[in-house]
Amino acid sequence: MEKRISVELSTRIRHLPPYLFASIDKMKQKAIARGTDLIDLSIGDPDIPTPPHIVNAMKVAVEKPANHRYPSYEGMPSYREAVALWYRKRFGVKLDPQTEVLSLIGSKEGIGHIPLAFVDPGDIVLVPSPGYPVYSAGTLFAGGENHVMPLNEKNDFLPDLDAIPKKVLRKAKLIFLNYPNNPTSAIAPVKFYKEVVGIALKYNIIVCHDASYSEIYYDKRPLCFMQIPGAKDMGIEFHSLSKTYNMTGWRIGFAVGNREVLAGLGKIKTNLDSGVFQAIQEAAIVALDTGDEILSAIRKTYQERRDVFYSGLKKLGIHLMKPRATFYIWAKIPSNFDSTGFVTHLLKRAGVLATPGNGFGEAGEGFVRFALTASVERIKEAVERIGKIL
Ligand SMILES: *Cc1c(COP(=O)(O)O)cnc(C)c1O
Repeated sequence: MEKRISVELSTRIRHLPPYLFASIDKMKQKAIARGTDLIDLSIGDPDIPTPPHIVNAMKVAVEKPANHRYPSYEGMPSYREAVALWYRKRFGVKLDPQTEVLSLIGSKEGIGHIPLAFVDPGDIVLVPSPGYPVYSAGTLFAGGENHVMPLNEKNDFLPDLDAIPKKVLRKAKLIFLNYPNNPTSAIAPVKFYKEVVGIALKYNIIVCHDASYSEIYYDKRPLCFMQIPGAKDMGIEFHSLSKTYNMTGWRIGFAVGNREVLAGLGKIKTNLDSGVFQAIQEAAIVALDTGDEILSAIRKTYQERRDVFYSGLKKLGIHLMKPRATFYIWAKIPSNFDSTGFVTHLLKRAGVLATPGNGFGEAGEGFVRFALTASVERIKEAVERIGKIL
């Protein structure tokens, strides 16, 4: 008889729900195997390639032997300076590149790791629902407890901070926020950010604002948290080059803000990773200097898609949010379905793949998210196909 060990997962892994996009990927592979002409609007992964000037910068950078060695943990000084300049130009916020900027292997990496630096077992982390799943997963890895803040349409998809019990606030170490928001596409007004500052100061809570979509907007650039007076005293902001410059595969992002918070995160990181490949950092410096013509062309592409999809679904009688930012459409599903049932129905009958709202947390039940990451022609076709099966 063959001898083998029994492989048992740790409690922390066993209690984790399956990663949302991994289970969607399975459904997708099955549909493709059945021969479905799939229109995939499920994942927030831009279909537009990285602009060529960035790719070319990478080609040059990858040839340099100096870049083949271990990078510095916190990011090359030139990369951190480029980030500080990017922030100053866009948001008018001054950052010290030495202490107030930290490179990340994509913002997901920093988001997932930060609870390890500040959360002990029994501590609470405030997480939005629906929300990016990594906020709550990172908390569980650190042994912390998530306190869910529902984002409801009647409150413009902002959490109701007054509804959080005082005893929860007293045990809370971190609060995760994300505007422009994935999946609801909502943006946050200055009044809300000021309330966040007030509550964070009162209860000594570190604010972690995820600003991955700050550049994907349709009217004017949304505020970032660092623009709010006092923000640097209590929090940090995560950014990503993924969505802004169509660089999801490159794995580079950054966090900025409070130096002590960044130092804590940096301490975890030095023990786990060895920084970002320097060639990627050099290409990212070029990316951060991209002229506004290119960025406005990207925004225009999404805007065209948004207009077609939004007005198409609205005509079909679907209740949905008109995004002022992000490339997501958050739509209410017909009342005879639940989120997963509706997504399965769409996939089987229309060959359109969306993400069930409940995958972003219980408060997302009753909704579905479409990502505008396909061409206008395919989006028109998706609207037609959905129209036929409703
Ligand atoms: C895509 C996304 C991220 C992750 O971006 P990376 O920099 O590619 O890791 C983080 N937060 C939100 C809300 C996202 O949608």
